[in-house]
Amino acid sequence: MPRSSGRMPRPTLHVDPSAVAANIGRIRAATTSDIMAVVKADGYGHGPVAIAQAAVAAGATWLGITDVDEAVPLRESGLTQPILAWLNPGGVDAALAAHLRVDVAIGSVDELRQLIDDAERLVRVHLQMDTGMSRGGSPLEEWNELLRIARDGRSRGRIDVVGVMGHLPLADRADPAANAPAVLRMRQARDAVLRAGFGPLMVHLAATAGALTDAATHFDLVRVGAGLVGIDPSDTVALTGAGTFTAPVVHSTHVAAGTAVGYGAQFVAPHATHLSVIGVGYADGIPRELSPGASVAIGERRHPIVGRVSMDQIVVDTGDAAIARGTVATVFGPAGPAPTIQEWAHWAGTIPHTIVTGIGTRIRRSTT
Ligand SMILES: *Cc1c(COP(=O)(O)O)cnc(C)c1O
Repeated sequence: MPRSSGRMPRPTLHVDPSAVAANIGRIRAATTSDIMAVVKADGYGHGPVAIAQAAVAAGATWLGITDVDEAVPLRESGLTQPILAWLNPGGVDAALAAHLRVDVAIGSVDELRQLIDDAERLVRVHLQMDTGMSRGGSPLEEWNELLRIARDGRSRGRIDVVGVMGHLPLADRADPAANAPAVLRMRQARDAVLRAGFGPLMVHLAATAGALTDAATHFDLVRVGAGLVGIDPSDTVALTGAGTFTAPVVHSTHVAAGTAVGYGAQFVAPHATHLSVIGVGYADGIPRELSPGASVAIGERRHPIVGRVSMDQIVVDTGDAAIARGTVATVFGPAGPAPTIQEWAHWAGTIPHTIVTGIGTRIRRSTT
């Protein structure tokens, strides 16, 4: 068995800015609206600053995040684009929003009142319409009240309304008819806000799937997250995976027929074979429940994962091939023979979003 000593290449997610640029190009081909790069959830696991910088270099003019706090690394990296934070799960930090020039989305009367109470300096607001998700945004019936409070907040110099936002529940169907009720709601929201004396407004509804499949949803701005890293929820456009997840073989061995692998002896080698241990497991985002076929690439070949996925390691069956310790395996990547994130999602019975957002903090992020 060939062996090497010393340190090995660390498990790494290599982020390719040119893939992000290519994906922005495909969005650009589908819309004339401005493009917001959504970098919530740590830039869909890839690192928010790297993804935001690549997207801005390729033409995105807005950035989107979940919580105002997430703007700190973006501003520290020198990004000056307008940023919108929606949801704000711990409540809106009004002082930080004003300081970092972050717009906030507000989707209820309570939230708006609280912001107006808290804001010592002017905070820019995008009012959120419930366009069919029942998960964020005010239903149309509340908009008179919402706008009355917003006008009051503006007259006190606490807030201004600069945008109207919705979110599409059915855009992954790639069927404009499914989006039509939400588009109508957005127009009603926009008209109500303009009638209340606010404007100019940024009106925005579509995320990746809507951006790629339905121009009627584009308004002034499309909010693209998944698409930046190579995920098209509508499965209509081939995007490029922005991440390549690699990890070295930490141990390699030859075993006899009948040898059990991993917890519960779930796999027993049917014949003599070579096994390689790779030091990434479910704590690093490898899904624990995998259907047969789940594999990683080593060199030009794919090798199946055998036995249970452990917290910190997986074992692959490399058959005839004795793999040297330190040889780098590719867990996923955009091009063959590496599995794609879409294949991983299929093996795990999930969507590629959960594969990329699940990549753990032990995995180094590196921009190639
Ligand atoms: C996550 C999110 C987006 C981006 O959606 P993708 O499908 O990942 O492009 C856009 N808008 C809102 C409100 C979101 O929560």
